[in-house]
Amino acid sequence: MDNSIIPYGRQFISEEDIQAVISNLKSDYLTQGPLIKEFEDKFAEYIGSKYAVAVSNGTAALHLAAMALNVSEGSNVITTPITFVASANCVRFCGGNVWFADIDPHTYTLSIESVEELILSKPKGFFSGIIPVDFAGYAIDLEKFRALADKYNLWIIEDACHAPGAYFIDSNQVNQRCGNGNLSDMSVFSFHPVKHIATGEGGMITTNSLELYQKLMSLRTHGIVKNEGAYTNTLAEAIGHQYNETQVTWPGWYMEMQQLGYNYRLTDFQAALGISQLARAAENLERRKAIALKYKEAFEGKKWLKGQSGFVEGHAYHLYIIEVENRLGLYNYLKEHKIFAQVHYIPAHTMPYYKDLGYKSGDFPASEAYYGQCLSLPMYPTLTDAEQDRVINTIAHFYE
Ligand SMILES: *Cc1c(COP(=O)(O)O)cnc(C)c1O
Repeated sequence: MDNSIIPYGRQFISEEDIQAVISNLKSDYLTQGPLIKEFEDKFAEYIGSKYAVAVSNGTAALHLAAMALNVSEGSNVITTPITFVASANCVRFCGGNVWFADIDPHTYTLSIESVEELILSKPKGFFSGIIPVDFAGYAIDLEKFRALADKYNLWIIEDACHAPGAYFIDSNQVNQRCGNGNLSDMSVFSFHPVKHIATGEGGMITTNSLELYQKLMSLRTHGIVKNEGAYTNTLAEAIGHQYNETQVTWPGWYMEMQQLGYNYRLTDFQAALGISQLARAAENLERRKAIALKYKEAFEGKKWLKGQSGFVEGHAYHLYIIEVENRLGLYNYLKEHKIFAQVHYIPAHTMPYYKDLGYKSGDFPASEAYYGQCLSLPMYPTLTDAEQDRVINTIAHFYE
């Protein structure tokens, strides 16, 4: 029997991907070149949004999204404890306060009821926004979240890092793709190698708002604006000491730094890889769904199974999660058999950093109950049928 290592997730790099990167390396632009816009346009088309802004990673995407919505000291923002910590940290980067609300134990995503309960426990106008997460690739019902956000005057940053290609069906039977910008103010994606599309490090923000798009473009590059219509200095200041009234055009070198931004740019060789990866994204998503269906059928009805991702329409299956008896035992047994399952996630509110801010174990019972028994199984497009059988059989051996 093949005994190679099976991780929980991994990138899929094809020969075309390699050629695309090499071809960029031989071109004029390693960064700030034409491939960035091409990647953004193609990504926006895939996701269904008007605009997309490529950035250096998913965390930078979250940071810029929070900045663009003016999160600052005293801002109060709600998110889920069952996420990668960056979903919450982006609020802290801007000096705002993070408020966690519990998850729905069936979908593992932020419970809209716990969010509303939290909102109602504070004075009117206390909260400024919500960061729900399409956790594991499950598309949250953003129609319901939008209605809640509008009721309490909140913005929504959708953390769609797990969910490119995922969708839910709204009350008008319209297929709403994660990140299409119809129901969130902005959505963020990551191109870390374990995610659907890999560029090494990389991220994207999608939005349908021109105003937010322009802000993001400037914040990504130091807060610099290069657009004569937007300059606030005078032409005399722009030209300098040799200015006279006959000079009516802005000098070619001129630009303005209008606010404090960052260098959160993606490189062109990463964009080259992203464009090439994106071309296979739909196909890879189908493979993930087939793997999910096979897991679901293999585990259904097993008495050690407490819950699982199952087969849900529109799910993007970044992760396939099972909730089991003796999770630690199973994790170690799989590891002995070179199958590296993983746990997503240690609840953010139990991290010492958030405990120092006032949270404690016991605060979010559904999240903690989930954490106590969850395990993410190998899930990536190049996982072969034989490898998946090995995972399924090893789990069966452990329990039988
Ligand atoms: C991966 C991930 C991020 C952060 O993305 P990076 O590209 O690693 O910075 C944020 N949120 C979620 C839910 C993620 O899975």
